[in-house]
Order: sequence, then structure tokens, then C-alpha cells
Amino acid sequence: MVRNRRAGNTGVLRRVRFERVAQEELLQRPPVPHVASNGAEWLAVPGWEKTGWLWHGFSTRRGGASRAYCADGVPGELNLGFTADDDRGAVVRNRGLLVEAITGETATPLVTIRQFHSTVLVVANREDAARETPLKADGLMTAEPGLLLGVQTADCIPVLVADRKRRAVAAFHAGWRGTVERIVEKGIGRMHLEFGSRPGDLLAAIGPGIGACCYAVGEEVLSSFESQFLYSNDLFREVHETDAVRTKYPMLFLTQRAPGHSPIGPSLHLNLVEANRRQLLAAGLKERSIRVVGGCTSCNTDLFFSHRGSQGRAGRMLSVIGIRQAKTSSDECFQ
Ligand SMILES: [Zn+2]
Repeated sequence: MVRNRRAGNTGVLRRVRFERVAQEELLQRPPVPHVASNGAEWLAVPGWEKTGWLWHGFSTRRGGASRAYCADGVPGELNLGFTADDDRGAVVRNRGLLVEAITGETATPLVTIRQFHSTVLVVANREDAARETPLKADGLMTAEPGLLLGVQTADCIPVLVADRKRRAVAAFHAGWRGTVERIVEKGIGRMHLEFGSRPGDLLAAIGPGIGACCYAVGEEVLSSFESQFLYSNDLFREVHETDAVRTKYPMLFLTQRAPGHSPIGPSLHLNLVEANRRQLLAAGLKERSIRVVGGCTSCNTDLFFSHRGSQGRAGRMLSVIGIRQAKTSSDECFQ
């Protein structure tokens, strides 16, 4: 489809071409979570379990103590953000469940940040886990063993990075604003500065977030990406919501347009996962070192918290990474 729109106030009509797809073509099967013995359900990165020195995981909303976002009579949920709706004690308990599921100990220090859609990055240590007020940032990294770093999301894209050679780890929160400001590229540059990390040694995993199937955006977002990335046209699609999708996923459309018999659209959708994968490649990571865990948060509100999928009233997932504390000298040999 040829898309016509005016560029700035110059009055020049630009013609931008995007691939046109039906929404069902973009739908993806959600990943299958692990169920920890304490009930917390979380996603591992395929292939990363073999990396014995690494702790990692992407939480789901399942298996916790929160009652704020679920109906009466169903099991409690794993909200991991101190949201206004939830009970603080439940969130503390849930964080303990996730930390235990990933590291085997509820007492493993967990460092989180106050996220504000910036590209501020911090180097964290275990003292940061005890801060009353977390540091304001959208990415964090460490080379210190024995602690977990976490970023919170409920549609934005979490990205975890591990340096196999230097044994350093990082977690980034990439919404559209952080993505357009290249938080992941900057983060990998910072890992080089802090730890001497070389991109060829890095592994990266992109966790669940809102998919291209659901992430309809406006012209402001398109203009921002166009101004920053030569490949921006690859990140957008003209999407038609067909009646087949409306029938299968009626919840997606409750607060959008009135149901009709004819195809709706098109709307402009952004693929934030691909945008962050391109940044990892641009930063020098090998294509085979990047894993996309998958799962659209907005399509799968039974598995994930989603800001859009629940009309702005959602809990938060936590994506965590850390360097396992070696208990004995023989653990050091465990690659
Ligand atoms: Zn979706």
C-alpha cells in the first residue's frame, strides 16, 4: 500500500511504502512457561540454561500472592511492581517467589530501578538492592556475582545481555521512547566501557512485550523512528484488523472501535522486538547470539500483564539476570 502523508510543515507530499498485512499474519504462539516448585511461572531463554554461571528469567503473571488484577476465586498472581492498586506486602512476597524460582534462595539481593523511559544506565552492586528509593534509570549492569538485576515491563520490551568472556550482565527496559533513543546500543557501548565487553562475546535475549500484531502507533512514533533509523520502514506494517481476528480475540477490541462487518483499518503497527534486535546487530552482536523469547503481552493477557491489553490497569512483570555466586571452586569450571 502506498501511504501518503505530509512531511513536517513543508507541504511536500511524501510517499512511504509499508508492507501490508492482515493482523492474523502477525499473531504468534506464546512461549510455554516453567513452573517453579513455589508456583511462580517464568520463561527461560532457549539455550541459556546450559550457561551454568548465569541466572536469568522473564516472569509471567502466574503463580503469586497478588489479588489486585484478578477475579475472586482464581489463584493469586505474580505482580512484581509496586503499583498503586496492589498491596505492597503481596509484591514483596512475589519478588521473593521469583528470586527463589531463579536462584534457589529468596534472600538473593534483587536490584530494580525507577524507570522513566530514558537511556540512563547504572552499574549496580549488592548495596543497591537495599536502597529505600531505587535509582532512576532504564538499564542496569553488573559484573558482581550473587545478585539479580531486574527491569519491570507490562508491554515494553525487556532485553537481557550476558558477556560470556568477562562475566558481566545487563538488563534494559525499552519502550518506544527508549528504543528510539537507542538504549540497547548505548547499553552495549557502556558494557564495553565498564567491563571491556566485546560485542562478539555477548548473548542477548529479547523478552515478551507488545507484538507487532497489537502495537498500533501514531504518526509521532513513525516520525521519531524515521528520523533515527535508515531501516525504519522495516519496523512498521500497515495492518488490517479482519473480522476473523475480532471473532477470535474479542477482548482486543472492546475499547477500540465498534464491531463491524467490513475490514477495519489500516492502522500503522510498530515491531518493537525487531527494532531492538536490529540495535543488538548494529552494536555488533552475532545474529545467532540473539534469542527472541516471543509472546505478545496484549494478545495473551492470561499469561502476561499488559498495559494496553487491560486498558491501563496492569501489574508488572520482572525480567531478571545475574551472575551465579560460585559456592565451591569446582563451580568455577562449570561453563
Ligand atoms: Zn498481539
